[in-house]
Amino acid sequence: MSKSTDIAALFDQYVMHTYSPTATLVDGSGCKVHNPEKNTFLDFTSGIAVHNVGHCHPKVVKAIQTQVATLGHTSNLFYTTGQALLAQRLSKLSLNGKCFFCNSGGEANEAMIKLARAWGHEKGKYEIISMQNSFHGRTLATLTATGQAKVQKGFDPLPIGFAYAEFNNLDSVKAAINEHTVAVLIEAVQGEGGVIPATEEFVVGLRKLCDEKGLLLLCDEVQCGMGRTGKWFGWQNYPVKPDAFTLAKALADGIPMGALVATAALSDVFKPGMHASTFGGNPVSCAAALAVLDVIEEEGLLEHTSKMSELFVEGLNVFVEKYEQVLEVRAKGLMVGLVVEGSAKEIVDACRDNGLLCCVAGEHVVRFLPPLNVKETNIEEALEMLGDALDSVYGGEEAAE
Ligand SMILES: *Cc1c(COP(=O)(O)O)cnc(C)c1O
Repeated sequence: MSKSTDIAALFDQYVMHTYSPTATLVDGSGCKVHNPEKNTFLDFTSGIAVHNVGHCHPKVVKAIQTQVATLGHTSNLFYTTGQALLAQRLSKLSLNGKCFFCNSGGEANEAMIKLARAWGHEKGKYEIISMQNSFHGRTLATLTATGQAKVQKGFDPLPIGFAYAEFNNLDSVKAAINEHTVAVLIEAVQGEGGVIPATEEFVVGLRKLCDEKGLLLLCDEVQCGMGRTGKWFGWQNYPVKPDAFTLAKALADGIPMGALVATAALSDVFKPGMHASTFGGNPVSCAAALAVLDVIEEEGLLEHTSKMSELFVEGLNVFVEKYEQVLEVRAKGLMVGLVVEGSAKEIVDACRDNGLLCCVAGEHVVRFLPPLNVKETNIEEALEMLGDALDSVYGGEEAAE
C-alpha cells in the first residue's frame, strides 16, 4: 500500500464515487506536496482554500498537538476557553456580535439560514434570495440555496423558501422580493461559480435595499474569508457590512470547522435549544483557528496576499496576450481564475503533469488558490509550469516550429 496506483485502487473500491481524485498525496509542507513516488507538486489548491497558511505550518501543528494532548473534546454541555477566545477574536474583527461554531461550510450556511428564518418567523418571512451561479454547500437546504441546476439535479423535491436572482444585478434582486422574503445571500467573490467578485455597486446597493425592505444581508465567506482576498473577510472589500456571515474552509487550517458570525442583535435570536452541534467549537478546532489568526497577523499575510496577487495577475495577463484561447484573468487577492475558451480541466490536467496543482471553477475557469504565505519564487515557478501546460495544450512557439 505504498504506491499511488495501489492506494487509488483501494480508494475506488471502497469510497463512494462522488469525487474524481487525480494524484495521490502523502505529505506536504508550505506550498509543496508529495506523492508516494516522491514527486513534488506545487500546490496552488491549498486543499480548496483551506491551507491559507500552507501545509503543516509549525505554529498550527504545535497548537493542535498541544490541545489534543490536553483536552480534546467536551461537547457544548461545558464551557471551554478556546471557543470563548475564538468567538471574541472573530467578532472583534468583524461585526462585534457573537459566533456559533460547527464543522463545515454547508453546516455554517444551514445555521445562517436557520437564524434568518428564526428572525423572520413572527412576521411570516422565511424566503431567502440567493444568486444564480452561487455555491453554498451540499446539504438539502444549502444545495437549494446554491443557484446551479447541476448541484440540485436528482434530489428533488427541494425544500421550499428559496428564490434566485442574478449576481451583480440589483434589479434582478428587487424583482425577486416578495412579502415572504427574509434575506439576501451572496458570496463577496463567487468561488465555485468561476471566481467572480461582486461589484461595489451591487453590494452597496444590496445593503441599501435590505435596509429599506427590512431584510437581512447574508454573506457566505466559506471560500473568500480568512484573508483569502487580502482582507480578513471578503465583504471587507466593500464599504458596508452584512448582518451575518459564515466561515469554514481556512478557519482551522484543515481541522474541520465552520462558524456563523452575526451582529449582536441578530445573534440573540438564537435561544438555548434552537441550534446545536456536538463537535462544534471543540477545543482542538478552536486551538487550530486561534493559531491561524495569529499566523495571519504575525506574518502580515493580508498585505502579502495583495502583493502576491498583483504579481501573479501580472504574470497571468501575459498568457492572455499570448494565447487567443486564454480570455481573461479574474482575481480578488489570492482567489484567482484564468478564463479559457475550451475545457479548463484539460489545462488543470496539463498543469499537474508539469508539477502544478490547481483546480477548475466551472467548465471554463482554471482556479488558483495558493497559500497566502506563498513566496515570489513560488509564483514564478507556477507561472512557468502553467506556461508549459498552456504550450502543450494550445501549441506554443516550439510546437508551431
Ligand atoms: C466550499 C464551500 C461551501 C461548502 O463547504 P463544505 O465545508 O464543503 O460544506 C459553501 N460555500 C462556499 C462559498 C464554498 O466555497
